[in-house]
Amino acid sequence: MSETIAEAVARRRTFAIISHPDAGKTTLTEKLLLFGGAIQLAGVVKAKKDKIQTRSDWMKIERERGISVVTSVMTFEYNDRVFNLLDTPGHEDFADDTYRTLTAVDAAVMVIDAAKGIEPRTLKLFEVCRLRDIPIITFVNKMDREARNPFEILDEVEQKLALDTAPMTWPIGQGKSFCGTYHLAENAVRGSDTETKTTKVNGPESDLAAGRLPENERATFIEECGLAVEACKPFDRTAFLEGHLTPVYFGSALRNFGVRDLINALGSLAPQPRAQVADIRTVEATDEKMTAFVFKIQANMDPNHRDRIAFVRVCSGKLERGMKARLARTGKPMGLSAPQFFFASQRQLADTAYAGDVVGIPNHGTLRIGDTLTEGEQLVFQGVPNFAPEILRRVKLEDAMKAKKLKEALQQMAEEGVVQLFSPEDGSPAIVGVVGALQLDVLKERLSGEYTLPVSFDLARFSVCRWISADDNAELERFISTHRGDIARDLDGDPVFLAADGFSLNYEASRWKQIKMVAIKEYQ
Ligand code: GDP
Repeated sequence: MSETIAEAVARRRTFAIISHPDAGKTTLTEKLLLFGGAIQLAGVVKAKKDKIQTRSDWMKIERERGISVVTSVMTFEYNDRVFNLLDTPGHEDFADDTYRTLTAVDAAVMVIDAAKGIEPRTLKLFEVCRLRDIPIITFVNKMDREARNPFEILDEVEQKLALDTAPMTWPIGQGKSFCGTYHLAENAVRGSDTETKTTKVNGPESDLAAGRLPENERATFIEECGLAVEACKPFDRTAFLEGHLTPVYFGSALRNFGVRDLINALGSLAPQPRAQVADIRTVEATDEKMTAFVFKIQANMDPNHRDRIAFVRVCSGKLERGMKARLARTGKPMGLSAPQFFFASQRQLADTAYAGDVVGIPNHGTLRIGDTLTEGEQLVFQGVPNFAPEILRRVKLEDAMKAKKLKEALQQMAEEGVVQLFSPEDGSPAIVGVVGALQLDVLKERLSGEYTLPVSFDLARFSVCRWISADDNAELERFISTHRGDIARDLDGDPVFLAADGFSLNYEASRWKQIKMVAIKEYQ
């Protein structure tokens, strides 16, 4: 019997992992896939760093630098749940990519290094999640090493993130003695992730819990478990879903502890695909008609095919292979003849996808970041953000004859979200903007590799850029004509004001009070 849309939606969990570099995101991803049954052997994800070519190792630059530049999706099925794990770039120069990916998830796992606690990037990513009320499950990793006391870690999460914590498990031992997790509410023990089921016990003092520890650590463990139950907040589902409370799990991704607890938590606690806000209405995940939006474009996933894949998050209905969709930006129909699913080590044609699923749609430049696809309804999803670039450069071409080719290439890169492209009103050469310097390296690499366009970058006389608008259109026109040399248009033709520095930006903003200058533009 085929499942209903509501049943399919109820089984889905779409999430990302947020963490500071080195906290263990890659290792955890690998183990989630391993214990989730998606891969036979650990090492597929990890291989990236060892410079072995893997499917997710799409770009040369990524291999060279050993960092994950691209965002990918990994799907696995475990205990009748379908998990879509959206990977995010680890390097902060690709932060805009990460933020866009977070618009496509319903929950996040926050990985914390047990010795280091909350680190700067964790904090920043957490703030993005909070803006979007994304519920967070915390995984305290590296308990097999010298770690802080669990209460201290919980306290730090509460203080630094202003987020209530509810410990769900407690580590049995720490560092060398770490040997499993104790489920506080269930009074159950899991020795390691090789055990698929937990074992019920009478309490923390049992042989399977405290009994596993060296004698001198037993009393502390029993006492801490008692205190965790009495003094910490119990798990509250509403508070969790509203983003006010995080359930906390302890473990070691490397040594296979706590990963199964985490998968089960995602399955039982994390929400099913949420409703999405569009311009004319809120779209429920269980609505009959298919809707989806593009949050990521990836070119050259397979160097042999020079393809361009748009990653869409399905928001409602059923996306079926062969269906015709309507692209909201142009109003044109688009056949979805070869949508793809991504598993850890392979792609597969997708016959049917439901809300929460992420599907890759091969195309030749038809789709852009932020695009909405529907079954005909004129509806546009809100909220895939565009961040004002912090670095602005003019692209200098070695061969001036290739200016037209460069223009086309830059346009394509901008549509993929690699860079932002601004065309000055005064007709001077285009300016590219990026959030982090590594994006410029990617641009340079791709221009030379894919388009045989060797380029260098010149400093622009601008360093700040803001999208401008006004309630009174005449006032906007007046501002634009007074500042013609400092105005450019983005890919959508929206005007931006370019300023030499923050000082001159503030100066103009104070003189032109009716002009709104914003650093984040939501697509469309
Ligand atoms: P990422 O930068 O967040 O993706 O972190 P990685 O997964 O690459 O891990 C960074 C380092 O920490 C690697 O050397 C891992 O082997 C190590 N690591 C990850 N998880 C654990 C763990 O649970 N225990 C220990 N001892 N080391 C770990």
